[in-house]
Amino acid sequence: MNTVQVKDKQFSLYISEDSLLKRVKEVAEQINADLAGKKPLFLVILNGSFVFAADLLRDITIPSEITFIRVASYEGFNSTGEVKQLIGLSQNIEGRTVVIVEDIIDSGKTMQELLKMLEKENPKEVHIASLLVKPGNLKVNLNIPYRCFDIDNDFIVGYGLDYDHEGRNLRHIYKVIE
Ligand code: 5GP
Ligand code: MG
Repeated sequence: MNTVQVKDKQFSLYISEDSLLKRVKEVAEQINADLAGKKPLFLVILNGSFVFAADLLRDITIPSEITFIRVASYEGFNSTGEVKQLIGLSQNIEGRTVVIVEDIIDSGKTMQELLKMLEKENPKEVHIASLLVKPGNLKVNLNIPYRCFDIDNDFIVGYGLDYDHEGRNLRHIYKVIE
């Protein structure tokens, strides 16, 4: 199926499940090689990363741990606007090698906030694994060693990513038809 409808929008096939799985495996192998002996803790950022994480982590063969967190936004009490909050970090990450598992990095602001919040817990090192990166939209300086695909600035859906809460269960990644 080359086009799908999600709510009021049409989307066309962009990255097939086969290509996704192939590339995710390559990135997993890179992590296996780089982080062997460090027992990384994978921090999966819900909701969007659940499909990517399930595939990536089944190709991780080194000893590791997995946990799931959320980054919630709420309006701050001052004029700085949005404040981000970490929900569900139950593990102690002090001294640990952490790998953040994210679905997509767009402006990079969410990731920057997340890194700031994690640094307070004194991890040994923090790496970023992102399924997708939109380099054309990046507003902050981020080192993203484990990235599966760099994409254009189009809005995409599927493989965990939603359009207004729908479409996360699509097997392939689709991009919006304007
Ligand atoms: P950032 O803080 O990097 O600008 O925003 C990242 C968040 O924006 C992602 O976690 C995701 O929720 C959302 N996002 C950015 N681009 C897309 C897109 O093309 N499709 C979907 N479904 N979400 C996106
Ligand atoms: Mg996300």
